[in-house]
Amino acid sequence: MSSQFNFETPEERIRNLKNSIQEKLKFVIGKEPALATEHDWLNAISFSVRDLMVERWLRSTRAHFSQSGRRVSYLSMEFLIGRTLSNSLLNLGIYDDLAQALDSMGFNLEQLINEEDDPGLGNGGLGRLAACFLDSLATLGLPARGYGIRYDYGMFKQNIVDGQQAESPDNWLEYGNAWEFPRHNVRYKVFFGGRVQTEGKTSHWVETEEILACAYDQIIPGYDTDATNTLRLWSARASNEINLGKFNQGDYFAAVEDKNNSENVSRVLYPNDSTSSGRELRLSQEYFLVSATLQDILHSHWLAYETYDNLAEKVAIHLNDTHPVLAIPELMRLLIDNHNFKWEDAWEMTIRIFSYTNHTLMSEALETWPVDMMGKILPRHLQIIFEINEYFLKVVKEHYPDDPGLLSRVSLIDESNGRRIRMAWLAVIGGHKVNGVSALHSDLMVKSLFADFAKIFPHHFCNKTNGVTPRRWIGLANRPLSELLDKTIDKTWRTDLSKLSYLNEAIDFPAFIDQIKQAKLQNKKKLAEYVAENLNVILNPNALFDVQIKRIHEYKRQLLNLLQVITRYNRILQSPDADWVPKAVIFAGKAASSYVNAKLIIHLINDVAKVINNDARIKNKLKVVFIPNYSVSLAQMIIPAADLSEQISLAGTEASGTSNMKFAMNGALTIGTLDGANVEMKEHVGDDNIFIFGNTTEQVETLRAHGYDPRKIYEEDAELNQVLNQIATGVFNPEDPHRYGALFDSLVNFGDYYQLLADYRSYVDMHDEVDKLYRKPNLWARKAALNIANMGYFSSDRTIQEYAEEIWEIKPTKL
Ligand SMILES: *Cc1c(COP(=O)(O)O)cnc(C)c1O
Repeated sequence: MSSQFNFETPEERIRNLKNSIQEKLKFVIGKEPALATEHDWLNAISFSVRDLMVERWLRSTRAHFSQSGRRVSYLSMEFLIGRTLSNSLLNLGIYDDLAQALDSMGFNLEQLINEEDDPGLGNGGLGRLAACFLDSLATLGLPARGYGIRYDYGMFKQNIVDGQQAESPDNWLEYGNAWEFPRHNVRYKVFFGGRVQTEGKTSHWVETEEILACAYDQIIPGYDTDATNTLRLWSARASNEINLGKFNQGDYFAAVEDKNNSENVSRVLYPNDSTSSGRELRLSQEYFLVSATLQDILHSHWLAYETYDNLAEKVAIHLNDTHPVLAIPELMRLLIDNHNFKWEDAWEMTIRIFSYTNHTLMSEALETWPVDMMGKILPRHLQIIFEINEYFLKVVKEHYPDDPGLLSRVSLIDESNGRRIRMAWLAVIGGHKVNGVSALHSDLMVKSLFADFAKIFPHHFCNKTNGVTPRRWIGLANRPLSELLDKTIDKTWRTDLSKLSYLNEAIDFPAFIDQIKQAKLQNKKKLAEYVAENLNVILNPNALFDVQIKRIHEYKRQLLNLLQVITRYNRILQSPDADWVPKAVIFAGKAASSYVNAKLIIHLINDVAKVINNDARIKNKLKVVFIPNYSVSLAQMIIPAADLSEQISLAGTEASGTSNMKFAMNGALTIGTLDGANVEMKEHVGDDNIFIFGNTTEQVETLRAHGYDPRKIYEEDAELNQVLNQIATGVFNPEDPHRYGALFDSLVNFGDYYQLLADYRSYVDMHDEVDKLYRKPNLWARKAALNIANMGYFSSDRTIQEYAEEIWEIKPTKL
């Protein structure tokens, strides 16, 4: 633990915490205790806790810089880190001390923890993965730094108004951010626009506009170690406070407006998940991150070595998806234009430095930018991209003279599509490693999207199955289970999750199974309280909690779940007195603000919920709730309370999934398709302990290729027919009966692209199997325990160890 604490008694620790909080309130916040708001206290507490991390942070940073090993920079447009206070307390090992200190001051720690804003600087899985990775990198003592954007507004807040999603801005900085250190002296100029002036062999990017990137650092503490890393986020500032030209002309308002415009670059996170926005401002954001970060990396490298010749030996840069891929031409530009490197030497170094994670194979998510747009915003980079393309295609042509189509297929420029730059191609060509995020996804990646490149660069491609941090997703989220694990194993599962396998030996003890049941029940009661308080729906804690929480997306198939729910409702109405397993179906998730069908699905869930929850005939045997404003902190409450985890994407569409892992390690059973990491989870937990249904990727492909006829399924399956007719005719929304005509059409008349109807019958039948098992509570709990016991592989510590050894070639820093 923190060295300054080593010689203190618990009483001294608690007294010191108390004193520190009172001092912060007075000297940092500047308030009397009597006038302080809850947020003031929270900030005072946060500053006190931050103090305890600073010394080891400085020591860690010094050690990283003084040891001349390789370091990795992890570039991501999103970091969904969740609340910081509780995580810091856990990592410092002072959670209970602070709870006692606050208790003696008349505060409740848990209540204050819930007051902290949950920074929504990410959309979903991709941003959350980056956050789990930061936690693992710090805990493993690896020399790493995260780089991202400090958006003024994160992911929008979601309210449900009359059943529909309503968005409002997420002003997460409203009460200040106690966790960040503004670095007033770390700022770089980022250039945009202008034109390229060529003199002989040299190019100059001239007549540009500039924006300042200012650094804000957040401490990323490792768990139970002094090792600490940094997340550096960039915020945009107008480079001249005001445009002097306009100011001198007397146009005050235009001058101030300019300032506002350039600062727009870090104003707001784009709320699109798994789709490319294609907007100019988004391209500017991506370049803003990349340019500031690379200048920062080169600057600190120069301070250490006073040469760039050994850059590739000391620097690894990882690209989380293609969003930061402009880093590749940016490094080329800096080396060639500013540091006088020869083109070929710069290229060779660039390839050794970069690696890239692919997150999706779906075409709507693949980033491509119009050549014209790139030329307007980043003309010098466009030129370098053309040079890279020419250099690459020349080599390909020499090696594959007999494949005439190959050149246009692997070209960085898609000529068939209005001349667009294929950013994923650039990421493959400009680095030395490309990884997928689950075994299935990595396999499909080299067979489909990157098939040509896998032939050209057979050693570039690899798999790194995702993981999640057990500190947040068990330790913080599930205190009852954590205590049981501490008792049954010991405390070390937090840093060595493979220790969970010791549970395999406890499984035959009825007392242990009983404790597993008790822990789950406690979590379910807590969630039921939240739902009662916030949504005014009463959930029976003994009902089967059936949960699907994730971004709302057609490929994730929340609508398939809803078809099953309506089927169950119809069945209960048919025989209301049969012995039904009581069930609470829980949804949460945001829809991109422009995604019409996703928003319709939210509306339909709420319409169906209203009818089912108010139908006295079914005697509370079925409840449906949509919990608004899904976030990391909601996930931490909902996941430990789940009995059943819905992971039902169409096979071949979900690259990995990570909530599937969080659920299983918290003792939920999975109902899922053979998609993403579900496939590997099945191998680890055993076929008997997971509910797998639906078509495989091969069957999906075959259907797609050889004629899929959803209408035939609709006509032949009586239960499905009834459900779809109910949706189409407005049974759940008589006030506006045609509301869901478009959803019905998309399934029955327009091809059902995500093949919901093809998987419907096997899904409904599998839910019957779920019911059967739930009637045997001990057997259910045993299978839940087996899930927990065999999820050790899915720790992000394991994932990061693989990245460190096989992609980045970095080693832990000695402290
Ligand atoms: C884990 C997590 C996700 C990813 O969920 P998937 O079901 O894997 O898509 C998204 N959002 C939040 C807040 C998460 O915690």
